[in-house]
Amino acid sequence: MNNTRWKHINKKWIVNHRGAKNPVDFNKPYAWNVEEERTRTGTIEEVGTIFLTNKECPFQCLMCDLWKNTTDKPVPLGAIPAQIEYALNRMPHVKHLKLYNSGSFFDGGAIPRKDYEAIAALLKNFETIIVESHTRFIDERVIRFRDDLQTDLEVAIGLETVHPKILTLLNKQMSVLDFGNAVSFLNENSIRTRAFILHQLPFLALEEGSIWTQKSIDFAFDSGVECCILIPLRAGNGAMDALLAQGDLQLPTLHSLESVLEYGINKKAGRVFADLWDLEIFSGCNNCFNKRKQRLNTINLTQQIQPAINCVCL
Ligand code: SF4
Ligand SMILES: [Zn+2]
Repeated sequence: MNNTRWKHINKKWIVNHRGAKNPVDFNKPYAWNVEEERTRTGTIEEVGTIFLTNKECPFQCLMCDLWKNTTDKPVPLGAIPAQIEYALNRMPHVKHLKLYNSGSFFDGGAIPRKDYEAIAALLKNFETIIVESHTRFIDERVIRFRDDLQTDLEVAIGLETVHPKILTLLNKQMSVLDFGNAVSFLNENSIRTRAFILHQLPFLALEEGSIWTQKSIDFAFDSGVECCILIPLRAGNGAMDALLAQGDLQLPTLHSLESVLEYGINKKAGRVFADLWDLEIFSGCNNCFNKRKQRLNTINLTQQIQPAINCVCL
């Protein structure tokens, strides 16, 4: 691939393509839900997710749309524990909880360290807490938070892709080496990791994109992650729409997502999930969409390949 064609893609170009943010209130999370997930021990359990209203992430990745529900300024001390309490009072009881803050949990500019103790006190009865972080913030502060928590801590890290040129173009400001080092550090401290992997990449044809999804799954498991989440690449953040319009982005198909999920499951190296949010945008066939979505959901929950769906669209 010819990188010079995309040399104009930088932080300024990405930010200039953004639309307006959604109105948010730092006193409340902007969403929360409970979904079933297969645990690493093989049971299917309910897992809550709280989408915290937090300061915008300091990175501006090309494909990211999480900035839409963020604040421009840091949230005040005490806001994050209050948001967690707010959502927990409105959610059914669950044993496992994801705290996603549209950035990095361990970024001191996002969640003040002085809030860790109050957050840990709210979470002491959970079995598993899952947070997300860029590798830049993975260091001793993760250990300190785990020690405050006294429960299982798992960290989700965006690997995105191991394609070296595209990882740079994504403006992730992280190398695959950084990813590997972060996972090793966490594993050495008995903290499990999960990797977010993009399925399909801008600047690549569909078939090539699937090959790189597979390579990224291989790398993530070889690095020591316990779980991979395949996220089909979407438009909608401005920059991705511009790439789509100029022919530099092919959205993944449902069939290609099925195939990379099956690849990951067949490795038997750890759990592999396909992200099913907004899945209909990747389907070109009304006849089989619901069956395919159901099949993907069953594969996620059982970690077993299910019988193929036969349809004229294949
Ligand atoms: S590091 Fe994560 S949250 Fe931050 S811009 Fe990149 S994808 Fe978005
Ligand atoms: Zn079909």
